[in-house]
Amino acid sequence: MRIDVLSIFPAMFDGVINESILKIAQEKGAFEFHVHDLRDWTYDFHGSVDDSPYGGGAGMVMKVDVLAEAIEAITAMDERRPRIVFMAPVGRSFSQTVAHEYTKCERLLLVCGRYEGFDERAFDWADECLSIGDYVLAGGELPAMVVIEAVVRLLPSVLGNEESVVEESFSASNEGLLEHPQYTRPAVFRGKTVPEILTSGNHGEIEKWRKAAARTRTEARRPDLLR
Ligand code: SAH
Repeated sequence: MRIDVLSIFPAMFDGVINESILKIAQEKGAFEFHVHDLRDWTYDFHGSVDDSPYGGGAGMVMKVDVLAEAIEAITAMDERRPRIVFMAPVGRSFSQTVAHEYTKCERLLLVCGRYEGFDERAFDWADECLSIGDYVLAGGELPAMVVIEAVVRLLPSVLGNEESVVEESFSASNEGLLEHPQYTRPAVFRGKTVPEILTSGNHGEIEKWRKAAARTRTEARRPDLLR
């Protein structure tokens, strides 16, 4: 998979993309990453990417002309046509289901807003808008990083143990529930013990316990997931 990002703060991606899972995924060839500076497509002396809103009001709006030029140029950089996704609080809600859906794309182009967001006409260049939650951040860079990490860790061969992405919270094979509680050594810590069943070696019973624990936890913390 190829992931392109369009941003006015490309340096924000350096640390996140080049550490841990995302670094390993690139080394394994599971995905290639390209971040583009929107200012490369500006045409005035100041390199303006934003302007004041028609009708007045606070803040600045990202310019449709600069965005369109950049998106068209980036699209043409590879013969794979990207799925073009604008990061925006007004978008479709991101979820594990959407992350799985994106793993099927050969190429993604994530467009990061700043200021008050995009000129409405720029959305004509989007296949969809995506929100990472009902709150407002200062820019689309962190949302883009959230999407990249959620998608890339699902790509085949990225995580050592393929089962770890199958049996986790929100996944279909976990019936969309939260994951069951997990424990590791020591078996007793300051009087806190591990559920006995987990040290019994009885895999059938352990499986049953995990399913029940996942359901109990979901009922308590996220009853909305059961609906
Ligand atoms: N005025 C806009 C918010 C702009 S925030 C509104 O009220 O809807 C500036 C930029 O940050 C947005 O263009 C978007 O790219 C990004 N952003 C902020 N919150 C986000 C969220 N929850 N999900 C995705 N992108 C977000």
